[in-house]
Amino acid sequence: MIEVPVLIAGGGPVGLSASILLSRLGIKSHLVERHPSTAFHPKARNINMRTMEIFRQCGVEDAVRAAGLPIERTGFLIWAESLAGREIERRVEQRSHADGPELSASRHCLCAQDDLEPVLRKHAEALAPSDLAFATEMIHFEQDATGVTATLRRENRETQVRAQYLIAADGARSPVRRALGIAMRGIPEIYRSVNVLFNADLTPWVKDRPSAIYLIQQGDLRATFMTINGVNRWGFLINLPVDASFEPYTPARCAEVVRAAVGEPNLKVDILGIDPWIAAAVVAERYRVNRVFLAGDAAHHMPPTGGFGLNTGVQDAHNLAWKLAAVLQGWAAPSLLDTYDAERRPYGETVTEQSLESARSMGRVKSVGGAPPPSNARARKEFHNELGMIFGANYASSAVIPDGTALPVVANPVTDYAPSARPGSRAPHLWLERGGRRVAALDVVDKAFVLLAGNRGASWCDAARKAAETLRVPLTAYTVGAGAELGDADNRWASAYGVQADGAVLLRPDGHVAWRSSGGAPDDATSVIARVLASIVSRST
Ligand SMILES: Cc1cc2nc3c(=O)[nH]c(=O)nc-3n(C[C@H](O)[C@H](O)[C@H](O)COP(=O)(O)OP(=O)(O)OC[C@H]3O[C@@H](n4cnc5c(N)ncnc54)[C@H](O)[C@@H]3O)c2cc1C
Repeated sequence: MIEVPVLIAGGGPVGLSASILLSRLGIKSHLVERHPSTAFHPKARNINMRTMEIFRQCGVEDAVRAAGLPIERTGFLIWAESLAGREIERRVEQRSHADGPELSASRHCLCAQDDLEPVLRKHAEALAPSDLAFATEMIHFEQDATGVTATLRRENRETQVRAQYLIAADGARSPVRRALGIAMRGIPEIYRSVNVLFNADLTPWVKDRPSAIYLIQQGDLRATFMTINGVNRWGFLINLPVDASFEPYTPARCAEVVRAAVGEPNLKVDILGIDPWIAAAVVAERYRVNRVFLAGDAAHHMPPTGGFGLNTGVQDAHNLAWKLAAVLQGWAAPSLLDTYDAERRPYGETVTEQSLESARSMGRVKSVGGAPPPSNARARKEFHNELGMIFGANYASSAVIPDGTALPVVANPVTDYAPSARPGSRAPHLWLERGGRRVAALDVVDKAFVLLAGNRGASWCDAARKAAETLRVPLTAYTVGAGAELGDADNRWASAYGVQADGAVLLRPDGHVAWRSSGGAPDDATSVIARVLASIVSRST
């Protein structure tokens, strides 16, 4: 029997990310994926800035970017009657626009899922050689008070694994979720779609207007060209009502639809794969049952409008990994794990709801409410402009100590992001200097808590180091500003983080703010920080 701290069921982007995140935190895991290889279809392509920040923390950002396309080759959204026909509308994607305010050290990236997954797999295998088992299915599991016992099948041979925790990253149909009897809340069928992967040279129609997607509206046809390499490899979605049959969509029929959508009847089209699927907007009613955690599509299945499924799933894994590491390494109490559901489920619900709203606004949700959508519907302004949502996971749980401030008010929480270091928020982006090198504020967050104090806040740093040592909680502490351990390159630290020169902010290993004091350290600062840390990791001092 294999014995391992964490078993991961599913080797999609979320399972692979969980493996990487746990490995870098020093936690051994065993990942099983029933398919022999990574994804064939290029489903997800938009990797948003928050996810790229996580990939940056994992040391895989550059490899993901190299496997994808630069922003300059994907910056538009185009609606047209056909690629060769009348262009109806052209928009600039604000969320990936180079001229916008710098909100992150990591830019948005377009990298198709079938290109992304091999990059993640290679990285995961480098960190944990022999701990990823493809062509291996988890066929049964049960849990007891101390762990999970699972049966794996590979080529008709069965083996058993004993793990302390199980991450179910087993996709929208999640056998684990079903076995646990966790219900999904929401709308299980919104529309149908035929996902086609094809080769054809579309350069003549796209080279002068590089776009992330080309949305076709032609009579009754609603379809989308999804840019992969922007030249001859394309994803293509044929949008259908929820009661349509997939049966007519043979390779020959799909090639015909592609030609109609291009507007070139003689185009040579090689159909490489066809994947019919049903769009849903559902979220699990709970993300955890004792020692089993749902992550990714297993926890939330949303329409791909805006491209949030994979992103939200990788961010789930990021939230969960440091908490599992903390409990397994003995510096947090098991109840810290309750905060995974408390923090990630509300965000999963918001993102699912907003993805549905975008789908509705595009007139491609043909069954909801009965009435047919307007034939000229495009998309609401939020579509592909969701900066507020991308950075908007603001957590409220026992792993965050509120400081009595409110979140900044924005006109539109989906599009508008007002950086804030209010506890619960992702730490705002800021350029700092360390050893003469420019680093992002999030770059100093690696595997431990990080206390950042102003250049007159050294006593907060001393107190934090002492408290962390006593509690055996991993923590690093730095002063920030002129003459401090970290230079404040743009003189923005105090305003960006809402503190004075003697104030301090505590960041969690996932880069979210855990606690903040706008002003100076009291005499009993060590006790203050000890109470803060103990509370965050669910321990008593
Ligand atoms: C057309 C389309 C476009 C999309 N575009 C975007 C986008 O731009 N951005 C974005 O963020 N998201 C997008 N998405 C969504 C994205 O594809 C999913 O959210 C993502 O694949 C979810 O990853 P996952 O790892 O949770 O699940 P999956 O990718 O479904 O992986 C789950 C894996 O678990 C395996 N598995 C299941 N059961 C077992 C078992 N018992 N034992 C072993 N293995 C098992 C499966 O074989 C599978 O490989 C899009 C989706 C579609 C359909």
